Amino acid sequence: MQEQKSKTCSFCGRDQTDVNHLVAGPEVYICDICLGNANEAVSFEAKQIDNELIADFSLLKPNELKKELDKHVIGQERAKRVLAVSVYNHYKRLNHQLEEADGIELYKNNVLLIGSTGTGKTLLAKTLAKTLNLPFAIADATSLTEAGYVGDDVETIITRLIDDAGGNVKLAEKGIIYIDEIDKIAKKSSGMSVTRDVSGEGVQQALLKIMEGTEAAVPASLGRKNPNQEMIKVDTSNILFILGGSFPGIEKIIEKRYKNQKVGFDIASLTKEMEEDLVLRNISHDDITEFGLIPEFVGRVSNIAPLDPLRVEDLVEILTKPQNALIKQYKKLLDMDGIELKFDRSAVKEIANIAISKHTGARGLNSIIEKTMMEIMYEAPMDENLEKIEISKKVIQGLEKPKRIYNDGRN
Ligand code: ADP
Repeated sequence: MQEQKSKTCSFCGRDQTDVNHLVAGPEVYICDICLGNANEAVSFEAKQIDNELIADFSLLKPNELKKELDKHVIGQERAKRVLAVSVYNHYKRLNHQLEEADGIELYKNNVLLIGSTGTGKTLLAKTLAKTLNLPFAIADATSLTEAGYVGDDVETIITRLIDDAGGNVKLAEKGIIYIDEIDKIAKKSSGMSVTRDVSGEGVQQALLKIMEGTEAAVPASLGRKNPNQEMIKVDTSNILFILGGSFPGIEKIIEKRYKNQKVGFDIASLTKEMEEDLVLRNISHDDITEFGLIPEFVGRVSNIAPLDPLRVEDLVEILTKPQNALIKQYKKLLDMDGIELKFDRSAVKEIANIAISKHTGARGLNSIIEKTMMEIMYEAPMDENLEKIEISKKVIQGLEKPKRIYNDGRN
């Protein structure tokens, strides 16, 4: 009878009689000692990656973060400061978790941005994520539903975050999620007209869970709902949530609270603009609850930052100053055809004025400028010897054609 060959670990060579377990693979074996060592090496590496990731963030102090935001977002000083501090503290908190536990638990600093449409809420969140080189996902609260209903479950936002992290779940667990239109999931409260009622509260409950920090089971990929879909476990406790909404009518709630308390400012002596600004500046968590977000949900938001309404001067800056300002983009495009594009100051101001009259904040700028530029962008490349195009206020108003200057002396 043939003697059976003794099995040995393919990594350390230990005989099966010298170890507790020998796990068999295809023509290889690994012993429990080597398995333990491998496990340690892998988790050490993972921790190294974590440390590197976080060490990077701690380089950016709040003022440095704000400087980065300044490159892309005009105005909104308060919101920038709140965001910069929140993010800085968020990563201090992550660092703290990696250090030895000292019993002090640092809470997460989720942020709520309140401001009308087109004032830069999404842009702030997006720029922040880009600056930090973190995965980022945007969701619209109105498209979210409670589990089991038609629409996007809140978990799908996390799937999007993983997608943005290139499938790296560990990285996604430290990402940023921006949820827009959060005011639209307020439950109906006295005197407020909101489009959602009870179902809005259900979505708040579902969001609350992931904001608090949970081990969420999320679909591995986006797309159609499928009961047999692969699910991934994601720890959401370190994901930073930035919420945004316009909260129409919230000023009335704040004013009422102040009147009831009979303290604070004398509203009667202020202009309307000063009043709105001052009122919003004094917003409290209670006002948000009164608006219709449930207290537990509001409790998860440590910082509220009101955004300022954009004035004509702000819109002029938005058109011309940021790195990717619209006018810079058009100039660049025509420059590639060897044509110089010039906007008169009065033309830029006119674009801003039209946007103000449309009440869409900076959101409307693109379509206004595009209306003028479309024809130019079509014709200019085939216009031989064209050297320069000048846009005046009258061109924006549609009363004149843009002035064209040719390098052959033609008019
Ligand atoms: P919302 O407040 O509705 O989220 P967005 O951030 O989506 O507004 O702004 C829409 C567009 O308007 C942005 O892509 C950006 O081009 C422009 N914009 C809005 N606010 C600002 C701002 N404060 N500074 C620079 N650009 C802005």
